[in-house]
Parts: sequence; structure tokens; C-alpha cells
Amino acid sequence: MDPSTLFFANVLLLSIFAITFLAISFQVSPRGHWQSWAAANALLAAALLCFALDAHVPVLAAYLLPNSLLLLGFGFHLRAARQIAQLPCSLSSLLAPSAAYLVLAAAAFMLSNYALAYIASNVIFTIVSIATISAYASGPFRGLLSPVGLILAFFFLGTEGVLRTVHGLVSGGPQGPGMIADMILDIHLMCALVFVTLTGAFTLALSFELVARRNEEAARRDPLTGAFNRREFQARLESILDGTNREDFGLIHFDLDHFKQVNDRFGHVAGDEALVRICSEIRAHLRQDDCFARLGGEEFAVLLPCVSRNVACKVADRLREHISSLRFDFAPEDFRLTASAGVYHGDGKDLASADLLKTVDKGLYQSKKAGRNRVTIADAA
Ligand code: GH3
Ligand code: MG
Ligand code: MG
Repeated sequence: MDPSTLFFANVLLLSIFAITFLAISFQVSPRGHWQSWAAANALLAAALLCFALDAHVPVLAAYLLPNSLLLLGFGFHLRAARQIAQLPCSLSSLLAPSAAYLVLAAAAFMLSNYALAYIASNVIFTIVSIATISAYASGPFRGLLSPVGLILAFFFLGTEGVLRTVHGLVSGGPQGPGMIADMILDIHLMCALVFVTLTGAFTLALSFELVARRNEEAARRDPLTGAFNRREFQARLESILDGTNREDFGLIHFDLDHFKQVNDRFGHVAGDEALVRICSEIRAHLRQDDCFARLGGEEFAVLLPCVSRNVACKVADRLREHISSLRFDFAPEDFRLTASAGVYHGDGKDLASADLLKTVDKGLYQSKKAGRNRVTIADAA
């Protein structure tokens, strides 16, 4: 394929992605990473246009401009990756690649050592690729597929950077300030086409995956307290009951005592704040594998997988005691709350989730009847 067709294909694809990402950035929030992706694609398109037209512009501009734009574009790619990963992004890390290139290329121009500029630009490409890969490999993307595509795209770019650095070192690099116009140019442009297609497609896929994950997470949680909701709790309980490797587990169901009085006396906002605080305190007292859920209103449940009867009862009593120790400040007054609980312990054999919830509810009812602020072990029989 001749270079001008490859230039045209790259510029067309980059422009389409730049316009698409810019259009998306007006519709969504946060929009920072969309704007950065749009800027990255627009700058790469501009850089390729400058390469394609280098015979028609002054020598110094043809020499400095395309690679500076290219590196600024990759700076924006790195910025987008860090923004979407919620990592810190500084202006200096955005501008550093192109600024470093400009300084080194200007020095090379004065020394008439064009190999230096060629090698410098490729070393910088490689460093920016590695930094972008490390952003896409960071924690927030664990378990997603599309970052793998983006990592492959930047690995491809970084490998090309390394090969070109080696090529520059072995061949002594270009002898003049222009572009090397031989077979290698066709290969670079084809590689660029692969890179642009991969990054554009996987960028869109990554955003889709993140939105899907956020929606899935929201569907499992109670919006007020952030605790799991009843649906998630039920699913976890059923997965324990359906498991073949049946082990003893604990199930605690508790209900705040006289909570209506808090609303009546201090208002609904105070009641909401108390619910939020209690949930965060309870979560801090549980293990990673325990499932804590708000079943509704001021009723909560805790599922404790793989625990002994003694531990299940101790956890229930510790939670009850902790709730009763909390003081809720509502100047000029404050208030305290207590909770009553029912606890089941066993392997749940021959029981459905509804039977278990009924069982712990029985224990809870007995705790209320016996004077509240207590825990009752409930027997499934
Ligand atoms: P008991 O000790 O018998 O459980 O008494 P109680 O007052 O806690 O029980 P009751 O079922 O009579 O009242 C529950 C109250 O919980 C009534 C309702 O206004 C309040 N409530 C339920 N959900 C929320 C909520 O999301 N926010 C607030 N502020 N209040 C809630
Ligand atoms: Mg209550
Ligand atoms: Mg209740």
C-alpha cells in the first residue's frame, strides 16, 4: 500500500475517534478522560498530517512539529488512562514527553546529529507506553477484559519504540532532518493503523465495561447506607444453601429498637444519619467474607460463612453491644440506640432461604418480647 493511502486511513480513523469521544464528553460525567482521548486522537491526526505534508513546510517546522504533536498526543493518552483509573494527573506529566523531545531535538539540530533526535523520540515513546500500560494494569481495572486490549496496543507501540531505537543505534539514524521515506515508513504506518484501531475500539469497550460494572454494583447495594440490599443478601444465602461443600454458617437478623421515636423526636434526617452511621460501624466490625445487608427500614442481616456457633453468637452480641455504645449527636440533644437480634447457626441442610429468614425472625421477635437490646439463638426446628 502506498504511504499516502496509509496516512489518509490513519488520519480518517483518528478524526472519527476524536469527534466521537468529543461528542461523548458532552453527554457524560465525569468527562475528563473523554476529552483527553479526543485530544489524543486529534493531536495524532494532526501529527500524521504534518508528516504527510513535510515537503511543503519549512525544514525546522517539518522537523520539530510532527513528533512534538505525536508525543503531546501520547501525553493525552497517558492522561486519559490515569484519569479513568482515578490516579493523579499533573500538567507536567502531560507536557513532559513533548517538552523533553523538543529540547533534545533542538540540541540535535544544532549539532546536526539527527540520529540523536530519532533515538530520543523513540525512547520517549517507549517510556510513555510503559507508563500508560501501568495505568491500564492498575487496581480499578482488575477483572475487566478491555484494559487487556489497551495494554496490548501500548505494548505494541512500546515494542515498536524499542525496535526503532535499536534501528537508530545500529543504522546511525537519519542523516537529515526529514522523515525516513523507505519501506520502514510503510511498516510504521501499518503499525499505526493497528494501534489506532485497537485503542479506539478498546477505549469504547472499557467505558462500556465500567458503566456495566457500576450499574451491577448499584443493583446490589442499598443507596442510603451502601450496605448490600435484600436481593444480594438472598442470592448469597441461596448460594451457601446450594453449595455442595456444606459448612456451618451464622445468620444474624437484627432490628433497631424504638426507631420510630428517633424519627418522631429528631426528624427523618437524624434517623437517616443514624442508619448510615450504624451501617458503617457494623461493616468495620466484620470480616471481608461476611455479607452485611439492609433488608429494609431499620432491619439488617449479617451472613457469616464458615463460623462456629460460639463465634456467630459472639459476633451478634458484639454488634448489639457496639450499637448500644454509640452516641448520636443532635445538638442541643443527643440520643442512643439499641438493637434486638435473632441468630441462626448450622449448615442449613433441608432448609430454604425463606425458612431460615423465618427462623431468625422468630429469634428476633423473642428478643423484642423479652425487653429488647438482646440476642436470641433461634432453632430451625
Ligand atoms: P421496635 O422496637 O418494635 O422495632 O420499634 P420501632 O419503632 O423500631 O419499629 P416500627 O416498625 O414501629 O418503626 C420502624 C420505623 O423505622 C418507622 C420508620 O419511619 C423508620 N424507618 C424505616 N426506614 C427508614 C429510613 O430509611 N429512614 C428513616 N429515617 N427512618 C426509617
Ligand atoms: Mg425497630
Ligand atoms: Mg422493623
